[in-house]
Amino acid sequence: MEKREFLYEGKAKQLYATDDLNLIIILYKDDATAYNGVKRSSIHRKGILNNRITELIYIYLERKGIKTHFVKRLDDYSQLCKKLNIIPLEFIVRNVIAGSLSRRLDIEEGTVPLNTIYELCYKNDQLRDPFINETHAQALGIISAEELEKTMTLCKKINTLLIELFDKVGIIVVDFKIEFGRDEKGNIVLADEISPDSARFWDKETKKKLDKDRFRKNLGQIEESYREVLERLAKEINE
Ligand code: 5GP
Repeated sequence: MEKREFLYEGKAKQLYATDDLNLIIILYKDDATAYNGVKRSSIHRKGILNNRITELIYIYLERKGIKTHFVKRLDDYSQLCKKLNIIPLEFIVRNVIAGSLSRRLDIEEGTVPLNTIYELCYKNDQLRDPFINETHAQALGIISAEELEKTMTLCKKINTLLIELFDKVGIIVVDFKIEFGRDEKGNIVLADEISPDSARFWDKETKKKLDKDRFRKNLGQIEESYREVLERLAKEINE
C-alpha cells in the first residue's frame, strides 16, 4: 500500500490518498483544539493513543456487525480506511448530561436524563457546526429520510454496544459524537473516530474524566487518562 498525495487536513487528523482509489490513509495528529479552535495545543502522543483506541473500538464494533471504514492500523499514527462520501453531520449521543447541553439547559453535569438524547449538528467550520434537526438536514439535501432512519438506528445500536463494552472496563460512556459516510454502493458506514477526543468517558467508581475535558478544562493528566482508556480496552478486546 503506497501513500500518495495529501488530501485534507482537519483539526486532529490528516488524510492521504493511496494507490487504491477506494482506500485512504488517516493520520492522527497530536494537535488538540477545543471550543471550535479557540483553544489550541499539542498533547504528547495523543495521535498514537487515539489511533489505537479507535482501532480497538472499530474492531469490536465490526465483530458486533457494525460496518466501519476501518481496514487496518499501519503504524503508530496512521490507519488505512475505506474511502467514503462523508455525510456532513455530527451525530451526538448523550447518556449523561455534560458539556454544551449542561450549559445550554443549565442542568447539572452528571444528571442522568429520562431517555438517551440524540442531537444533530451540521459540519461546517465557518458556521461553527450549528445545531440542526432532522427536518433541516433533509431540507438542505444533506441526507435522505431513509438514510436518517438508518443512521439513527445505527446510533442506538452503537450506543448500546459501547455502553456494554465500556461497562466491562469500569467506564461510563457519558456522550459521544460519530460520523457516517456512504460507500460506493450507497451503504451507510461508520467513519471518523471514537476516542477520548470525540467522547466523554468517566471512571465508573471515581467519576474521574478520562477524555478531552481534561484539556478543555485544564485538568492535567491528559496523556495518562487517554492511556488509561487504551489499556483497559486492550485487556478486554482480543485482537
Ligand atoms: P458537547 O456538545 O457537549 O460539546 O459535545 C458532546 C460530545 O460530542 C462530546 O463527547 C464531544 O467530545 C463530542 N463532540 C462534539 N463536537 C465535536 C467535534 O467537533 N469534534 C469532536 N472530535 N468531538 C465533538
